[in-house]
Amino acid sequence: MTTLADNLERLEEAIEAACRRVGRGRGEVELMAVTKTFPAATVAEAAALGLTLFGENRVQEFAGKAAELEPLRKGAQPIRMHLIGHLQSNKAARAVELFDAVDSLDSLRLAERLNEAAAKCGKRLQVLIEVKLSPEESKSGLKPDSAEAAELLERLPELEHLQMRGLMTIAPLDVAEAETRACFRGLREWRDRWAKAHPRLSLETLSMGMSEDFALAIEAGATRIRVGTALFGERAANGERD
Ligand SMILES: *Cc1c(COP(=O)(O)O)cnc(C)c1O
Repeated sequence: MTTLADNLERLEEAIEAACRRVGRGRGEVELMAVTKTFPAATVAEAAALGLTLFGENRVQEFAGKAAELEPLRKGAQPIRMHLIGHLQSNKAARAVELFDAVDSLDSLRLAERLNEAAAKCGKRLQVLIEVKLSPEESKSGLKPDSAEAAELLERLPELEHLQMRGLMTIAPLDVAEAETRACFRGLREWRDRWAKAHPRLSLETLSMGMSEDFALAIEAGATRIRVGTALFGERAANGERD
């Protein structure tokens, strides 16, 4: 077996174990493979193993892989590519062309840009709001108790070319397990609160948990986990930010 197939098997066992611990079905948790810094061939290899959902964190980087992956996005089991990294408003149009979804929506301005660009392409773009629950200033995302978050949620139903699907967060790294769990619980609580306050929005997706903490995220209610390192191995430097 190849390394990737091995890693996937081990990962699947851990996902199933986490689901079992809290009485959830394996079908309730989607696995997103995060392929940033890896070439298109790696995406193709993962797709051949049955993975269909992929995350990339930079527009520019993915633009270099997109043409090669085009056939895989049209087949019988098409792969879907989501942007999960911070997006500058001036790259919104390019992102709409390249991706099926933007999971890192973090400002009203970006929402408006994406909506305009999607309208021009005749597309309806799926989005998740990235919520910042960690106090670390370097982390991207929208503060959930901010005026901008409230305004974005109010505006979203009018942005007809965006299809709101839920929330995403990145938990702080290298902290005690209790803090990680609190972060994931926090995302779920904001989702529940916003779903009640904004019944026109669909907020089913909770994208949380990465290689180090996906089990805790599943236990806290994640419907999607985003896994890079545990599948593909360590990345070369420079893979984190746009
Ligand atoms: C890189 C990245 C991941 C995957 O991280 P791993 O620790 O390698 O599993 C998940 N989510 C986002 C937003 C990322 O940038």
